[in-house]
Amino acid sequence: MKKKLILVLNCGSSSIKFSIIDPVKIVKYIDGIVEFMQTTASLIIYDYIVDKKLLNKFDNINSYEQLIILIFDILSSKYKNYINYVIGIGHRVVHGGEYLNKSMIIDHDVLLKIQQASIFAPLHNPFHIIAIQISLQKISKLKNSNIAVFDTAFHHTIPKKSFLYAIPYRFYKNYSIRRYGAHGINHLYITQTCSLFLKKSLDQVNIISCHLGSGSSITAIVNGQSVDTSMGLTPLEGLIMGTRCGDIDPSIIFYMVQHLGISITEVQKILTKESGVLGISDLTSDFRELEKKYYMHKKVKLSIDMFCHRVCKYISGYSVLMNGRLDAIVFTGGIGENSSFIRNKIIKKLSLLNFFVDIKKNIKNNKKNFFINTDCSKPILVVQANENQIIAQETYDLLK
Ligand code: ADP
Repeated sequence: MKKKLILVLNCGSSSIKFSIIDPVKIVKYIDGIVEFMQTTASLIIYDYIVDKKLLNKFDNINSYEQLIILIFDILSSKYKNYINYVIGIGHRVVHGGEYLNKSMIIDHDVLLKIQQASIFAPLHNPFHIIAIQISLQKISKLKNSNIAVFDTAFHHTIPKKSFLYAIPYRFYKNYSIRRYGAHGINHLYITQTCSLFLKKSLDQVNIISCHLGSGSSITAIVNGQSVDTSMGLTPLEGLIMGTRCGDIDPSIIFYMVQHLGISITEVQKILTKESGVLGISDLTSDFRELEKKYYMHKKVKLSIDMFCHRVCKYISGYSVLMNGRLDAIVFTGGIGENSSFIRNKIIKKLSLLNFFVDIKKNIKNNKKNFFINTDCSKPILVVQANENQIIAQETYDLLK
């Protein structure tokens, strides 16, 4: 039988990731990552079948377009044996705005709407658009098989009472200002994985999914659907993050601008790039470093304590909104998957909700997904994030 593979593209402002996946057998053939700074870029492609790494360095890169074209050229020349079997290309798109509420085949209208949603994700959507346009040109036989999979789509089930902001209604009606959330592709993957691990059908999964990485978000999932999430119009709201402030009183912005004379552009930079645990610790946004210095450095301790406090606040708030139907808490993302220290700190505060951590099970092991709760606790799971699996699956399902 002929293989049917999906090329998954995840194009961000500072890195490009891609994979070639068999979505039915759930087999990954290759993984690639490009990291770039100004005019140079490094590309690593890992071929799982022959267990081999390909390393490339590019200089004199003049544009993002040029880099994407280079990637396609390398894939088409050196990985023909996979590319020839690719039947569709799945693009991760961070923001779908008000109208793109499920995965879609990319046509002129969808591309236009992704462009319009750029206003809410200026660091992501413009790069997705470039990648989509080049992919449409470069592999012309797949012109009608490019699929956009949105990080906001999973959150379109959130009811109005939680997606609206209490500002004049016209701002929603006329300008689509509302909560959209983010990390939806992974929160959906977590929901599907929990359905297997908790032995429940997807429409009976009731969990709180904690995606803790350099960007962090928490989602309340009832009957397999997102009912509330911590990120808002943009990924700045909610939890304290690596460099983002999360929830703050909007008056802080007026104060900075009107009384401290800081320009609005500078305020935006402060709140997105200089805040979070970096801003409090005055040291780093890297949780590995922060953990090492937790007992030595007062501001480091404070930054981690603040981070965990905010996570607990969201978990406990959502548990009430879920009408007592909370079955499990799930940790995912770079911190959620790897830091037993942070998980322990969070769960220790949740005994009132009947969650208790087993110290031994909580220690990092080499399993992808594992339970860390005691026998008398409700389930607590650690699940490795896997957006690509969902993107490949959605792309395949739409093309079928
Ligand atoms: P992104 O949002 O960029 O996808 P990740 O989900 O990869 O981010 O998470 C990155 C974060 O995970 C960083 O803050 C990093 O310090 C943290 N992290 C990775 N490994 C560990 C670890 N072993 N212990 C604590 N934190 C970790």
